[in-house]
Amino acid sequence: MAFLEFQQMAKRFPGVQALQDVSFGVAQGTCHALMGENGAGKSTLGKILAGVYTADSGQIVLDGEVIAPATPLAARRQGIAMVHQELAFCPNLSVAENLCLGELPARAGWLDRGTLRRRARALLDSVGADFAVDRPVGELSTAQEQVLQIAAAVGTGARVIVFDEPTSSLSATESEQLFQLIGTLKSRGHTMLYVSHRMDEIFRLCDTITVLRDGRHVVTEPAGAMTPEQLVRSMVGRSVAAHEPAHLQRPPGDELLRVESLSSPGKFAEVSFRVGAGEVLGLAGLVGAGRSEVAQALLGLDPAATGRVFVGGREVPIGNMAAALRAGLGLVPEDRKRQGLVLSLNCRENVSLASLARFSRLGWMNRGAENALVTQYGDRLRVKTPSWETEISRLSGGNQQKLALAKWLARECRVLIVDEPTRGVDVGAKAEIHQLLDELAVQGMGLIVISSELPELMALSRRILVLRQGRQIGELGRENFSQPTLLRMMAGVE
Ligand code: ADP
Ligand code: MG
Repeated sequence: MAFLEFQQMAKRFPGVQALQDVSFGVAQGTCHALMGENGAGKSTLGKILAGVYTADSGQIVLDGEVIAPATPLAARRQGIAMVHQELAFCPNLSVAENLCLGELPARAGWLDRGTLRRRARALLDSVGADFAVDRPVGELSTAQEQVLQIAAAVGTGARVIVFDEPTSSLSATESEQLFQLIGTLKSRGHTMLYVSHRMDEIFRLCDTITVLRDGRHVVTEPAGAMTPEQLVRSMVGRSVAAHEPAHLQRPPGDELLRVESLSSPGKFAEVSFRVGAGEVLGLAGLVGAGRSEVAQALLGLDPAATGRVFVGGREVPIGNMAAALRAGLGLVPEDRKRQGLVLSLNCRENVSLASLARFSRLGWMNRGAENALVTQYGDRLRVKTPSWETEISRLSGGNQQKLALAKWLARECRVLIVDEPTRGVDVGAKAEIHQLLDELAVQGMGLIVISSELPELMALSRRILVLRQGRQIGELGRENFSQPTLLRMMAGVE
């Protein structure tokens, strides 16, 4: 029997069977990948192991002993810890206090600060963390807080550590440091369950891969025995062939959007371009190049912006969102939590939000039309949700992103700007979103795609415009697309 065994695990939430009959083993001292599309049940399984949820049935055997941790603390006592994405500490307590919360050292009834600090320092050193133990946790970066969670796990003697998409909000350098730390933990005999969408990470870090699909176990195999293509196929249950977008087969139609000398002090200057009907224009640039800022200015969200914008040949006043929306401009923003969706509303309300004018007459919402709309677009995007009345915050990131898109599709805009349309979504949802963008272009919509993933940009666009530090550096046609060329333009290296 393996060191850690999941046996016929099942868990149901209202409206969804999150896990069903999931059985597989994890060898000691390995990094074991848990993969699957959004909603496959990965986090649920990790949380059951870590005592956050309890399984409906099935059992977990750790080192020959059946365990059923009812709380995270109980899981800790059994040597299981989970590194969460969300804040797991008290932000106003210091690093040292947080690390030792479980057992604060006391001397004659007084908190022994010296011991506290020494103990915390030793823990941090053991994971190679160099930040001060006196700092309030609230001041730490996401990466530092993650390292702190790992230190806490190691400090409480964790034998098994669950990582749930740990790199999703880390920079490349921070991710690299995390990988090194995971390597160290592995060499010390810790066993790791690692959830991630990033194929390169998985093949680099993990010894074994388990794939879940719709709550069921699909396969458990050594990473070396699986190709990335096989992995994708087992995750989505079909092959996700990257085919040439259909919109490229036809010439672009009449000019839909013309932007002349769009500028905003301190953000970007003299940006000019055109987008035709049925055309996809890519916007490339490094972080801070001004891509999202240009998008926001086009939507009238930047009061300081100057220049001229024409939609369908008619000028749209700058800095006026109502006018931009009326002219048929739409934007699926990068940070959908802050700008794209209202998390406290349900799916139906979110989708119809952007088209309120179409559904309300004399102030009354037309619920029937609203329902038809969310069903039409939600189904088309294969959004996974128990019902359209489910609060959107309960959906996985990929499904939230699809609804953010649906919201704008429902408005039937003429020019749609999508900012990082697939960030944080899995391969299956990504292929569906790409296909949808292609279909929209084929139907004659003009699209501007902003993406930090060059392969995505090159797959979707007819032309790519490169921005660097707020300046328009140049434009490449599809025949000249190449990753090195684009990177050189983005970074300003000759
Ligand atoms: P993954 O991590 O693979 O993306 P999850 O384990 O988060 O998937 O979710 C599996 C399914 O269970 C999804 O359909 C999700 O909506 C549902 N789910 C997860 N957590 C809850 C919860 N607390 N309440 C209701 N449904 C949930
Ligand atoms: Mg998850």
